[in-house]
Amino acid sequence: MRPSILFPLFAEIRTLSGVGPKLEKLIAKVAGPKLVDLIFDLPVGVVDRSYRPRLIAAEPGRIATVAVGVLDHFPPRVKSQPFKVRVSDESAAMDLVFFRADAKYLMEILPPGSRRIISGRIESFKDKLQMPHPDYVVEDAATMPQHEPVYALTEGLPAKSLAKAVRGALAHVPAMPEWQDPAFLKREGFAPFAEALAAAHAPIHEADLSPETPARRRLAYDELLANQLALMLIRAQLRGPAGRRMAGDGKLRAKAIAALPFALTDGQLTALDEIEKDMASDKRMLRLLQGDVGSGKTIVALLALLNAVEAGFQGALMAPTEILVRQHCASLEPYARAAGIRLAALTGREKGAGRDATLRALAAGEIDILIGTHALFSEDVAFRDLGLAVIDEQHRFGVHQRMTLQAKGGKPADVLVMTATPIPRTLALTAFGDMDVSRILGRPPGRKPVETRVMSAPRLDDLIAHLKMALAQGQRAYWVCPLVEESEKIDLAAAEERAAMLRQALGAAKINIGLVHGRMKAAERDAAMAAFKSGETQLLVATTVIEVGVDVPEATIMVVEHAERFGLAQLHQLRGRVGRGSGKSSCLLVYHGPLGETAKARLKTMRDTDDGFVIAEMDLKLRGPGEMLGKRQSGMEDFRLADPVAHGDLLAVAHDDARLILSRDPELKNTRGDALRVLLYLFGRDAAVRYLRAG
Ligand code: ADP
Ligand code: MG
Repeated sequence: MRPSILFPLFAEIRTLSGVGPKLEKLIAKVAGPKLVDLIFDLPVGVVDRSYRPRLIAAEPGRIATVAVGVLDHFPPRVKSQPFKVRVSDESAAMDLVFFRADAKYLMEILPPGSRRIISGRIESFKDKLQMPHPDYVVEDAATMPQHEPVYALTEGLPAKSLAKAVRGALAHVPAMPEWQDPAFLKREGFAPFAEALAAAHAPIHEADLSPETPARRRLAYDELLANQLALMLIRAQLRGPAGRRMAGDGKLRAKAIAALPFALTDGQLTALDEIEKDMASDKRMLRLLQGDVGSGKTIVALLALLNAVEAGFQGALMAPTEILVRQHCASLEPYARAAGIRLAALTGREKGAGRDATLRALAAGEIDILIGTHALFSEDVAFRDLGLAVIDEQHRFGVHQRMTLQAKGGKPADVLVMTATPIPRTLALTAFGDMDVSRILGRPPGRKPVETRVMSAPRLDDLIAHLKMALAQGQRAYWVCPLVEESEKIDLAAAEERAAMLRQALGAAKINIGLVHGRMKAAERDAAMAAFKSGETQLLVATTVIEVGVDVPEATIMVVEHAERFGLAQLHQLRGRVGRGSGKSSCLLVYHGPLGETAKARLKTMRDTDDGFVIAEMDLKLRGPGEMLGKRQSGMEDFRLADPVAHGDLLAVAHDDARLILSRDPELKNTRGDALRVLLYLFGRDAAVRYLRAG
């Protein structure tokens, strides 16, 4: 139940005086249907009425406030003309201009011979001063605000009506209990909530609109704390008491490790250690494994899955594309065989009797590890006892899907989410809440940095000549054609055309060229990938279907056409496809100019660094979190006052703060706990509060 203190704020905006059905609709469109939406609708600008020039010195274009005497009224001769009222101070005259005016009304508010204070934007028209539709016509300057907040509008919504509604809503803000730690407030110089809110709505200078003002930071912190508390409460619920201990005896893992042609890196060992500890505890594991492309996450996943199998459970490994599923199967098969366990695949391609047999074996526990695409989510897929679900390259999956897999097979499984998009901490916190995070730092030994060059499209011929030489020497290359969102057909045509052009240019050099794209039948696509992997084709022209996870160690050249169309994370992913073997690799980013600022910054970042975390931070700055992870997944759509970039520092504090709060008062029962419940409701985190027991 929502605390009663909040009732006034959750009233509909139509309950405000002056807000009728028409206005309600428009306001709801820009802010929301409730008073609370209005108070969180912060101003985007400020009108300053303190400029009080003499008319002769007034600068056109500025908002000015002038004391004038009313001289005369000039009704229009034709209807389309405006009504004019001439006014003057001692220095000059000016026309107040009214379109579609009501003559009687103007006579009432501006009777000739009277003195008035007028405020509005002054313009110069044919060398004469005029002011169209003054904002204020008053007798007493004190009745007019010096500074006014400006709110984002929508067509048909008068600024004054919205401002008035916001003022009305602010008047309903009750005296809230303080939910923040007093010492923290003091240290940060934060005012109480209601004061901060009032200040945020009363800007005087442009600077008062900055996210850095104490008022806005306080409000942002409130929202961030609500968000972190909510995520932690939800996670606590997900983890529940129902986790299971999974600690294998290490026999299967030992066999698999013995079959590895390399030693695990320190980064891999550390991550594994964290994962195994989590699995062994009776709490449910919800862990995010971050590792740059090529850091070797797959083996870590396999060993974690084997741990589950050793402990008598089944495991699932989920990947976003068919190609990746096949690749995982192929690369893990030898180790599975060495360990003596049974591996199976399940994708959209498995159909009919084969699929039925797999499902039966799965339900009977005859399959130890199932690798699949989102086909794993199908209703009829049932494990005998799923212990661990690993989700690879998770940014392709939505939150809902993550949850579905967790619900499969009776008791909730442990979940390990692997991502090669290094997510900045701030973002990880909002998108994944309090998921534990392991990072694989460093890469397997012997990797050389990929030399990155940025070039413009007119130099394509040079590039092809260079490519011809490299391929003739036995190197292998990817050529990525961009995905243009509007039409898959056009993308495909572009890729096909490019492949044809390259065939013509390189055919004489006996270079075989493959093509892989999203519209191909799965079997064809796999065949094309396999041909490239085996070296039968040396150049693979592709749309971004190769983006995620594809592993061909022999590939040393990556050409990305229309690189300016890709996001940083994507470019980083693509570049990560090369530099996987022992050979020296290069990445050529071909752009079609002219470049916008963002594209320029992106390409420069790519040239300057190959540190995935640096790139991710930059990506966050350039694109914002919504685009980076997808709106839904970033969790950012939930924020109204906090700005993940400007308030990133606060997010980290809120995270620690929330953790401390819940460790001391997990049910939010003490006095501050009560106040925090109000905070959660205030920011619409009702679902999280429901996880708390009522009293
Ligand atoms: P990603 O983290 O991008 O998923 P992969 O798991 O696909 O990376 O690993 C990339 C490549 O590195 C694979 O060919 C894999 O066999 C290899 N690899 C993984 N771990 C090591 C290691 N410790 N030493 C050498 N090579 C490794
Ligand atoms: Mg991978």
